[in-house]
Amino acid sequence: MYMLLVALFTCIFLLIIGSQPAQAATQEFPTDSGPLRLTLLGHGSVLIEWHQQVIYVDPYAKATSFAGRPKANQVWITHAHFDHLDLTAIGDIAASSTMYICDADSAKQLSGSVTSLHNGDETEAGGIKISAVPAYNRVRERAPGLKFHPEGTGNGYVADFGGFRLYIAGDTEAIPEMSRLKDIDVALLPVMLPYTMSPEEAAQAARSFQPKIVLPYHCTKRDAQQTAQLLANTAIEVRVVIPV
Ligand code: ZN
Ligand code: ZN
Repeated sequence: MYMLLVALFTCIFLLIIGSQPAQAATQEFPTDSGPLRLTLLGHGSVLIEWHQQVIYVDPYAKATSFAGRPKANQVWITHAHFDHLDLTAIGDIAASSTMYICDADSAKQLSGSVTSLHNGDETEAGGIKISAVPAYNRVRERAPGLKFHPEGTGNGYVADFGGFRLYIAGDTEAIPEMSRLKDIDVALLPVMLPYTMSPEEAAQAARSFQPKIVLPYHCTKRDAQQTAQLLANTAIEVRVVIPV
């Protein structure tokens, strides 16, 4: 009986340390201009609240309801796939003053204050410096010769909130350009095959630019946990965040 109890407690202990506990959908980070609140809304959708700015990234109505949420000062779109550029979700959060920051394909479908950025372009909105960075597939294809995310079409974004630097990778594989990212405080990395990265690839991507914190997103809890395990015992903290 005693041995059985010891075995049982050992199993429970291993389960606890072996799987990273999931964290709340909203994570708060201090910046020089007050807290930045980052909420994972499911799929590639993210809500950022900082310094009176409400920013939605890739709002997608099938992931969560946008009706009744605060109106957007800004909407950032990474690429024109239906699950990232969703006009239904945008309709729920748009105001006449909403600024859109997006790739060139998405810009064709949006109206109002639209800033189209190519990879390498930069802009500034609401006190935030935003750089568009590459996001693409190196190997994964929809059909022979046709990548899910062809190079040069979609964007990732590096956003500087008064010195706090957030990297939203968008739909991308681990690409060489990531190793040039500098001083990233928080990185949102997608983990979903066949479109983006495996946990192993996401961990490799993180190692290439050493962000302080990685939030796996656009992924299952299992893939997020696996990414966390692969980066355990490194200087990179991985937070497994369960979307709302
Ligand atoms: Zn996509
Ligand atoms: Zn996607």
